[in-house]
Order: sequence, then structure tokens, then C-alpha cells
Amino acid sequence: MLEELKKKVFQSNLDLVHHGLVIFTWGNVSAIDRTKGLVVIKPSGVSYETMKADDMVVVDLDGNVVEGNLRPSSDTPTHLVLYKAFPAIGGVVHTHSTYATAWSQAGIDLPNIGTTHADYFHDSIPCTSDMTADEVYGAYELETGNVIVKRFEGINPVHTPGVLVKNHGPFSWGKNAEDAVHNAVVMEQVAKMAFVAYSVNPSLTMNPLLVEKHFNRKHGPGAYYGQK
Ligand SMILES: [Zn+2]
Repeated sequence: MLEELKKKVFQSNLDLVHHGLVIFTWGNVSAIDRTKGLVVIKPSGVSYETMKADDMVVVDLDGNVVEGNLRPSSDTPTHLVLYKAFPAIGGVVHTHSTYATAWSQAGIDLPNIGTTHADYFHDSIPCTSDMTADEVYGAYELETGNVIVKRFEGINPVHTPGVLVKNHGPFSWGKNAEDAVHNAVVMEQVAKMAFVAYSVNPSLTMNPLLVEKHFNRKHGPGAYYGQK
């Protein structure tokens, strides 16, 4: 079942390693088939060296395993909350990539201070608030999804396809698994650039005209970046 989607999710998980975002098993990618209401996700704690496309686990939106011999990623409940809350997204990525995770640990939004950021993320990449004892000791992974969704009240998740979970790390998403990985790579890069930029000039400013220009030439109604 969903063999093509399994291959894509498998490849996207390997791509996290190729892009240097993941060491050991610290990352996961999923994708959703919206017509079937099923999600394909990486199995929990399986080495990337031995993982196969067939190892991908199929779950329904309530987290029940529909197909697969391995346990799904422990972050599966977070992914499912995001798919339910953000109907336009088709893929979700979580990593502990160095710079984006460092911003998460610093606990502040990653501000939009350059055109690289503005090409992909319209706003600051928001950082979530502290989780409560009930959230941490309760259904922790599901509540992690809920704090992300809460943070996105008033923010368009398609225009800002990523978040920093405070003291934890980044989640990103996109129209499919490949797009979500692309956004994870960009998030890591802009986190790195912002770290250097603020080190050089802690009182730097961003020209808001460039935010609109760069975001809209790729994503606006008159988008003209790239090939038709
Ligand atoms: Zn994590």
C-alpha cells in the first residue's frame, strides 16, 4: 500500500543525511495521502544505513498503524496534529540540525533579516512557548504539535513553513516530503546566517520592502522566479 509514497518518504529521510541535517537517527520525515487520509512515516530508531523503503510505516490520522512491521517514529503524534491543523501541507520534517536547534534552545523567533529567508519564509520563524507540566508529562508528542498550532494563530503556515519548538528543535513542512526537506535545509541555512549576522551587528535592521519583494516574486500572485 502507498508504495510510491513510501519510496518518496524513504528518499526524503536519506536526503536529510545528505544535506547534513541529521546524525544518528535524529530526524524524521513523513508525507500524507490526503485522499486516503493515511500518513507514511519513518520507523522509530532505525539506522539510516540499513533502512529500506519497505520499512516506512503507514498510519491513519489517529495514529493507528495500518501497515508496517516496525513502530512509527516517536514524533508521529506531532506530525499528525500538523496534518490535521494545516490542511494545505503534504509533508513534515523534524530534525535537530545544529543552527536551527540552537535558535530553538535560545528560545527566540528567527527573524527575517535577509532575502534568503524572505524567499521561503514570509515572517520570522516563530518559536513556541514553554510547555507546561501537563503537556510534558501527558501526551508529550501530541502536545508538542498543539503548542506549534497554538503559536501559528494568526500566522499562515503555508507562507511560513516552519517553527522552532522551544528548547527542542525545528519542524518544517511543505506541499510534499521533498518540499518539507527543502524548507528544513533553508531553515538551517538562514539560522546559521542570522547567527553570524547578529554576531557582526547585534543592532542590524531589515528593509521591509525586500521581504515583500522576495517573498512575492516566488509565492505571490505575480510570481516570476524560476521557470514557468
Ligand atoms: Zn526532536
